[in-house]
Amino acid sequence: MRRISIFGATGSIGQNTLDLIRRDPESYTVVALTGGQNIAQLAADARAFGAEVAITADETRLDELRAALQGSGVEAAAGAQALVEAATRPADWIMSAIVGAAGLAPGLKALEQGTTLALANKESLVCAGRLLMATAEVHGARILPVDSEHSAVFQALVGERITEVERIIITASGGAFRDWPLEDLAGATLAQASSHPNWDMGQRITIDSASMFNKALEVIETREFFGISPEAIEVLVHPQSLVHALVGFRDGALMSHLGAPDMRHAIGYALHWPDRRHLPVARLDLAAIGQLDFRAPEEARYPALRLARAVMARGGMSGAVFNGAKERALDHFIAGRLGFTDMAVITERVLAQLEAEAGLIDDAMTLENVTRIDDLARKAVDLVVKI
Ligand code: NDP
Repeated sequence: MRRISIFGATGSIGQNTLDLIRRDPESYTVVALTGGQNIAQLAADARAFGAEVAITADETRLDELRAALQGSGVEAAAGAQALVEAATRPADWIMSAIVGAAGLAPGLKALEQGTTLALANKESLVCAGRLLMATAEVHGARILPVDSEHSAVFQALVGERITEVERIIITASGGAFRDWPLEDLAGATLAQASSHPNWDMGQRITIDSASMFNKALEVIETREFFGISPEAIEVLVHPQSLVHALVGFRDGALMSHLGAPDMRHAIGYALHWPDRRHLPVARLDLAAIGQLDFRAPEEARYPALRLARAVMARGGMSGAVFNGAKERALDHFIAGRLGFTDMAVITERVLAQLEAEAGLIDDAMTLENVTRIDDLARKAVDLVVKI
């Protein structure tokens, strides 16, 4: 029996992970399940999977969680510190699927235990990639990518040497607005930005796909995880979302990974790695699909990609500024306080502002410093938005 925990169990990735566990209950013991506001889902899953503990990130909802778990034998806990403590419970495999920088502290703690971390939470690599990778190395822990593009690259690299890689191409659907006239983007509404042409995901990543902030995070994630130079990372718009990534080797060969747009593919690969097992995902019928389209991303449509390049060139903890500012700008867009295109404008402004503050982003990369910078970036966005 493998002991597993799922951080962000109530979300889209968490539910897909539980779907795979549910199909093979004899193989797993569920240790910790965590959630945020969806107490009913968290309690129902904790009961159904016989979890040792269920944790909500929201301390004010502990009583509600306790009540929902009454008589089940599942422990209840709440708050950011309880999440970190849950990561110290012995486990063989932990899914990191909290959304946003909040996933960093529990992920780091899991790595400090030497636990294998299946990493969907790309924000933690963007904010603190060097810290995360170094922590894994020191404690002999393994990070397995769950983002579909990074899982695809990881799979294309099996049996290969990273030193022979010339370029990594990650694909992007282009999001909800890939064919919109540019002048209409500023007026895009929350509902319009919250629908994805191919993937069924959480609301925040769906909006980030429309703005390509998601792809910008993934470019930085590629750099941090595979240690490849920024110039070797390319983004290609591929509207069908069937080719997830391509790896180009020095002999000119390109190895690509194709699959249905279903996150259970990448989650399942990380769950069973290094083996492959049957997964309940659709098989591609390429003759029926007929054609695969590719095009270069337009700079004017997707300014977030340019910002990702600037962040990689700047280095230090500018990734934490970028992610914190982007997350807060997204909060304001969701709350109706910012327009769709304002998110990139404000993120760029905050990046320039905090980079200019002496020493700030070149301090040692520790959890404390990353958290401080994340907080400063959010406050700087609030100042611009004037709340
Ligand atoms: P969802 O919004 O669907 O789920 C997020 C999860 O995090 C939920 O369990 C939520 O709880 C919890 N959560 C929210 N805020 C906090 C907080 N402050 N502290 C602790 N927990 C919190 O997100 P997704 O599943 O879509 O994405 C999760 C991560 O995986 C993200 O980093 C995303 O970028 C990445 N990812 C997602 C993909 C997808 O297909 N969805 C694909 C590739 C990567 P609750 O809902 O109960 O409030």
